[in-house]
Amino acid sequence: MAHLVQVGLGSGGMSVIDMLVRDMRISKVTLIEPDILKPHNLPRHLLGSHNVGKPKLLSAVKWLKDRNENLEIIAIEAFLQDPEKQDLINNAIKGADFGVCAVDNEEAKYHWCSLMRQHGIPWTLGEVLSGGIGGFVHTFVPGGPCYACACTYLKREGPKDSKDSKPDYSNPSGEVEEARIPASFASIQTIASLHALATMDLLDAKISPSSFLLPLQKVEGIFSESLRKIVVNVSKNESCLFCSKAPDAFLDVDDLLQKKLKELSGGLGL
Ligand SMILES: [Zn+2]
Repeated sequence: MAHLVQVGLGSGGMSVIDMLVRDMRISKVTLIEPDILKPHNLPRHLLGSHNVGKPKLLSAVKWLKDRNENLEIIAIEAFLQDPEKQDLINNAIKGADFGVCAVDNEEAKYHWCSLMRQHGIPWTLGEVLSGGIGGFVHTFVPGGPCYACACTYLKREGPKDSKDSKPDYSNPSGEVEEARIPASFASIQTIASLHALATMDLLDAKISPSSFLLPLQKVEGIFSESLRKIVVNVSKNESCLFCSKAPDAFLDVDDLLQKKLKELSGGLGL
């Protein structure tokens, strides 16, 4: 019986966990989420209006219990990076079989990546591009390329779909008009489904790193057609600030994150 640990219960994260708990091989989930549900979340979230103003975490626990009553749930209402909650979070995820990252801020993704490396846990990440024009699904495994490696790869190489342009995939909310409108519920559900499938592969012991991008719309200058999967062969960056160190080495994640973001914005020229 498997123990899943997930950070993030926003619109994407809620949909992913909703799909996963219907697999009865998952007997225990640990969930980490600090936010309350707000009215503007409703068009894209599974939780309904009677949950507005309440912690997403508590409403999610009830939702998931309704779908799998035997599920053991550890609920941690906290920001992932909260220094005072690190012991609690570390103890809760110790021994977990696999992880799911469903947060949209970079700091939390890097922090999650470091936690997963320290604990030797394979994990998945789903990212819906702004505007819902497509999304990434990544699978990270112990010893393989880390999230920082993926960001470096995407910044430098990028999946090439349109030969006359090289959009900045590491900052998809950038310059394109379509990228500034909110993603639709349908786009979020599509990427969440793929994210859930990638996670279930881990449950089936298909543990190998992979990354792909699925365009959901044809967008001038970015995607020449929709629904054509683009495999991204992220390789391990031997000079990676994060994963070139031993998994149990002390990392000042905040400091490394600042360096990484500077590098990605062109500041270090690495
Ligand atoms: Zn790395």
